[in-house]
Amino acid sequence: MMSEFDLIQHYFTRATNHTQLSIGDDAALITVNPGMALVISTDMLVSGTHFFSDCDPEKLGWKSLAVNVSDMAAMGAEPRWATLAIALLNSDDDWLSAFSRGLFACANHYNIDLIGGDTTRGPLNITVQIMGEVPTGSALKRSGAKINDDIWVSGTLGDAALCLAGLRFQLDLKADELSEIENALHMPYPRISLGLALRGVATSCIDISDGLLSDLGHLLKASQVGGEIALNQIPLSKTVADYFNLELVKNLVLAGGDDYELCFTAPQIKRATIEKIGLNLRLPLTRIGHISAHKNLNVYDNGQIIDFVNKGYDHFA
Ligand code: ADP
Ligand code: MG
Repeated sequence: MMSEFDLIQHYFTRATNHTQLSIGDDAALITVNPGMALVISTDMLVSGTHFFSDCDPEKLGWKSLAVNVSDMAAMGAEPRWATLAIALLNSDDDWLSAFSRGLFACANHYNIDLIGGDTTRGPLNITVQIMGEVPTGSALKRSGAKINDDIWVSGTLGDAALCLAGLRFQLDLKADELSEIENALHMPYPRISLGLALRGVATSCIDISDGLLSDLGHLLKASQVGGEIALNQIPLSKTVADYFNLELVKNLVLAGGDDYELCFTAPQIKRATIEKIGLNLRLPLTRIGHISAHKNLNVYDNGQIIDFVNKGYDHFA
């Protein structure tokens, strides 16, 4: 049996790129670049709630860090450092090797140093804290949306939620359809480059992790405004579009979650700039509506306001 310290050394200690003192001391030391603010966020993944206990550990390793990276993207921040607090039932070498491979694949992709954490025995729980940098005063917040701003989203929505519904047999997806959308669920690529490009362009921004209606709702509330969006403007992958006539799938797109796309607002005069950003990043950016003076979020379908059943995931609802 490996000791706790050997386990940390073997699975979680890798060379760092921009850290003064990393894993092995009582705490890590980092230096924030001059003129930059430190941006900090934490996300916990609980077995049975956020992932299946028998899921692929390599993809779980990727996703544990990626969901945190998405919060950096939403702030317009560059991710730099992360810590990992993990509770494990046992020290299974195959599982830990695969998990750390996935985790470091994500860390390398986004140039993040893993600089510390905590390891205990217990029901599987993975908590990552991420730290990033943004020039002081340039962070994208939820609170800056102005009346008449456009509302934009990146990528396509609903893929991850449709995949999960397929895996739970809530609807019958063909094997090739599942394989087209399964990366959205298991290996999201949060939109860091987009967040950086939106500094000074977007008036507000949020990442879509709990569903468009819920997360856009948070943005509107923080900005003290309302919004009007058109159902038929929401960008969909071919697979999701093929099932979009189903009420269930409309709900998944509006409220399913796990999209890790960005929803942001910008004045109309920024449309050409934003279209150019999308072309440069080869990432579809779609205008789905605009900010209004009333405080509601209205979704239009063929000119009618629709009632939606499900407003997004809330752990305590
Ligand atoms: P302490 O007893 O001072 O809390 P630990 O024994 O918990 O220290 O951790 C020793 C070192 O290993 C510390 O640098 C800590 O940040 C790091 N560490 C512990 N668990 C992990 C992990 N899962 N991933 C990365 N670093 C870890
Ligand atoms: Mg400790």
